[in-house]
Amino acid sequence: MQASRYDLVVIGGGSGGLACAQRAAEYGARVAIAESARLGGTCVNVGCVPKKVMWNAAQIAHAAHDAVHYGFDITLGGHDWSALRTARDAYIARLNGIYERNLGNRKVDLFRGHAAFVAPNEVRVGDTLLEAPQVVIATGGRPSVPAIPGAEHGITSDGFFELADRPQRVAVVGSGYIAVELAGVFAALGSEVTMVLRRDRVLRNFEAMLGTGLRKIMEDDGVVFLEHAVPQALERDADGTLRLVLQEGRVAGPFDTVLWAIGREPAVEGLGLERAGVTRDAAGFIPVDAFQQTDIPGIHAIGDVTGRAQLTPVAIAAGRRWSDRVFGGMTDRRLDYSDIPTVVFSHPPIGTVGLSEAEAVAHHGAEAVKVYNSGFVPMYHALTPRKPRAEMKLVTVGQEQRIVGCHVIGAGADEMLQGFAVALRMGATKRDFDDTIAIHPTSAEEFVTMR
Ligand SMILES: Cc1cc2nc3c(=O)[nH]c(=O)nc-3n(C[C@H](O)[C@H](O)[C@H](O)COP(=O)(O)OP(=O)(O)OC[C@H]3O[C@@H](n4cnc5c(N)ncnc54)[C@H](O)[C@@H]3O)c2cc1C
Repeated sequence: MQASRYDLVVIGGGSGGLACAQRAAEYGARVAIAESARLGGTCVNVGCVPKKVMWNAAQIAHAAHDAVHYGFDITLGGHDWSALRTARDAYIARLNGIYERNLGNRKVDLFRGHAAFVAPNEVRVGDTLLEAPQVVIATGGRPSVPAIPGAEHGITSDGFFELADRPQRVAVVGSGYIAVELAGVFAALGSEVTMVLRRDRVLRNFEAMLGTGLRKIMEDDGVVFLEHAVPQALERDADGTLRLVLQEGRVAGPFDTVLWAIGREPAVEGLGLERAGVTRDAAGFIPVDAFQQTDIPGIHAIGDVTGRAQLTPVAIAAGRRWSDRVFGGMTDRRLDYSDIPTVVFSHPPIGTVGLSEAEAVAHHGAEAVKVYNSGFVPMYHALTPRKPRAEMKLVTVGQEQRIVGCHVIGAGADEMLQGFAVALRMGATKRDFDDTIAIHPTSAEEFVTMR
């Protein structure tokens, strides 16, 4: 077998791996990266990027329905899912090419194929043995499928992006952000959508008012919610339609597509972690310390495979900071995982950063927490029959009312929150918000005019 020596071997050419490899190479390190599928990983190929394209299409569908109330004389002639898919996939293929060229420009060697540890500092890709004192595991994750009979008849978010046409009757099983996002796309583009919830709420890990507000809006848009619905089996009928058999003998369907959106698991199959001595936690993720170090010196892990804050900018920041520290001489450089802002691309979108009200009370005690709320129908909807409400919440703590949580559901939330996240990280207080002049007329101005 051919052996090559590097300063760094990165396993996985997704968000975290590419960022880590390129930053290290910018410092002059000799870097190899292994990728078994398409460059860019989940985000570019089956995550953020194609999802945002579909979200854009769904936004346009909503706007097209509203247009008549703004005086436009338009008739909607339908939507060509397959044409959208072709355009979307062509865009992604361009991105794949750009990522490969970027690696070449930085002189990072790309090895195509499945990588596996042979020993702690040795990684095999096909016929090549890569040796390095530093190895970074950035293999990401994959969607979970329930272990029930007939589960294979359903699809996951990966399958969503392979759909050639829009299915008419869809069940989305799950309540997290991917479930509500994909359900929202289907519903906006004309599918009849049923959300199948294990319990009774969506977005359970978020500030409670966000899930409550979103569910009401989705119900108004025609989405049906099944609560306390735990799938036991998925059956395909002779006519090809699907039926979900639920606990207690309930049956839901018929559906044309059932989409599992029940969580994600780490991609560690065949990685040879045992040969490197790297251990995993009970859920299978690779635990790391504050500097992304596994329990084996010289082996680090970043991004989704660590199970923490599974978001692209988090994987990128973890990878870049690791390289800053190891190859750039910034000895204390690391990622602080607190106050990570995030957006749910629902309709309308959700933006959130910091502690929910419940978390703030748990951390600081009820008497230290003061919350400000605002709920309204955005001005855009003054002229439309659809009246999706915007809801906002500021969570403050202490005498000085430091802002520890900022949450919003409503049109524009996706672009609104980044700046507020900066303010929150800088320790802004309610007084700072109050002293900021509002931008009128916007929804964002509510954040600085709450009483
Ligand atoms: C439907 C969906 C929507 C999402 N939307 C958003 C969003 O809007 N915003 C956001 O911030 N995040 C979003 N995410 C999450 C985001 O995609 C991930 O957090 C991010 O991609 C994680 O990056 P990573 O580098 O850890 O892993 P990945 O991007 O998954 O990259 C891992 C790479 O490693 C490769 N690999 C795995 N094993 C091996 C091996 N043994 N050898 C060689 N290569 C290997 C894989 O092929 C893959 O390319 C979304 C995810 C999904 C599924």
